[in-house]
This record gives sequence, C-alpha cells and structure tokens, in this order.
Amino acid sequence: MIDLHTHHERCGHATGSLRDYVLAALDKGVRVLGLSDHTPMFAADDDHALPRVAMPKSQFPSYIAEAVALKAEFANSIEILVSTEADYFRGRMDRYSAALDGYPLDYIIGSVHMFEGRDIFDVTRWAEVDEGELGDVKSRYFRTVAECARSGLFQVIGHVDALKGNFPQLGAVPAAAAADEMLLAIRDSGAAMEINTSGGTKQCGGWYPETDLLERAHHFGVPLTFASDAHVPDRIADQYPEVIEVLRHIGFRSWTVFRAGAAAEYFL
Ligand SMILES: [Zn+2]
Ligand SMILES: [Zn+2]
Repeated sequence: MIDLHTHHERCGHATGSLRDYVLAALDKGVRVLGLSDHTPMFAADDDHALPRVAMPKSQFPSYIAEAVALKAEFANSIEILVSTEADYFRGRMDRYSAALDGYPLDYIIGSVHMFEGRDIFDVTRWAEVDEGELGDVKSRYFRTVAECARSGLFQVIGHVDALKGNFPQLGAVPAAAAADEMLLAIRDSGAAMEINTSGGTKQCGGWYPETDLLERAHHFGVPLTFASDAHVPDRIADQYPEVIEVLRHIGFRSWTVFRAGAAAEYFL
C-alpha cells in the first residue's frame, strides 16, 4: 500500500503534525508514505502570502528537516518519501525551481490550483460560464495541466480534473482531444498521474480523474500513483482497496513511486 500525497498543519488548512500522519499510515498498513505539503508561495514577495493556503517560505527548511528526521526514525517500519505539492503558474516557475533546488526531495507534485485567475474550487467562477462553454473551459484546464507536465519540473501530476471539484456536472462534459493531449504530455514528461481520492471532500465526490480518463490513460501507457491528498490523518490511504479494484479491472498492473527523482514500479 502506497500513498504519495498528504498534507499537515503547516499549510494552515490541514490538521495534525507530520508525525500524526506517519502514525496513521503505520496504523493502516501503508508501506510507502509521501509527505507532500503545499509548497510556500515562492512566486510572492511576502514570506506568508496566503496563510490559509500554504506555509511561510521561512518554514520550508524546518518542514523538510522534520520530514527527513521522521524518515530516519521510522526507517525500519515504513518508507517515508519527502516531497512537496507545488502550484503550477504559467511563466512563473523560475522562483520555484530556484527555491526548491538543493532540498533532498524524492519527487515534486505539480498541481494546477489557480486557473484563469481563480482558485479551481471557487464556486463563484461558474456563474459567468454558459453551459455551451463548459467543454472549452474544461479543455483549457486540461491544456494547462499539460503545460504543467511539459515544464519538466514534476515527477507527479496532481488531481488532473479537479476543476470539477465543486462543479460536479463538469465531470461528464466531453473534452477528449484536450484530455488526450494532457495524458500524452504527462506520459512523455516521465511523470506519473495521480489517482486522487479526495473528490469525496468536495461536491463532486468520487476520485480525480474520472474513470473514462483512467481508461484513456491506460490506453496511452500513462503511469499512475496513489494519492489520498489527506488533510486529516485519518484519510491516509482512503479508498485504496476500491481504487485497486477499479484499476485492475481497467488493466493497470503497477504503481509508480519516486525516490530521489528516480521512478520505481510496484505491482498493484
Ligand atoms: Zn491543501
Ligand atoms: Zn492539490
């Protein structure tokens, strides 16, 4: 059992310490746990630009040090990977690369949380969108995720259709051409795509991505990794058995994990 996407209290919107997540993972029988809290807002000038979104820049070194210490402390009982979930901002990633350079990160998750000027989960964004435009909006989101993959900065691409999170009807809107472009960009970048079970914490329920995207991902040979995206320790490995069943049915046979940036495969 693996879980490569978890948060903790430093980000300002999750509960529990890093140790709480490690203990919860041990309790649930997780073998490989990724600690991957939100990257500070490195593109902003303030130390703590968005207190309820991400930790201050000045706390990042202590976050990494604590994760590395836990990795050593628990080495005999669980494998801990050290990571962070970075936002993808078009044309503004230089400060992220510079800021993250030199840290002992096993992998970096790249996620598009800000899209066309707003948080993807902001429900008010949909008031101005006509039903006929939904396919275009969804396609533009997929193309932004494709760009995120093509940046080459990330080993894991996060919750690729999370734009539907608080607008569930978007899930069924067709956007196949852009979806395929995104899936190929992920595959060709060498990154793995998450299957992320945190949809249940939003209005859409279910997982990111939709089953049809998983089927297309299998067709194209896109590697997958598991992500609870837990913001409370108890959600670690949430719905793991159900995910395994669906993936096996589609035809997937392996998970991908990353150690010091190098991919390794495990049987599902
Ligand atoms: Zn979060
Ligand atoms: Zn995220």
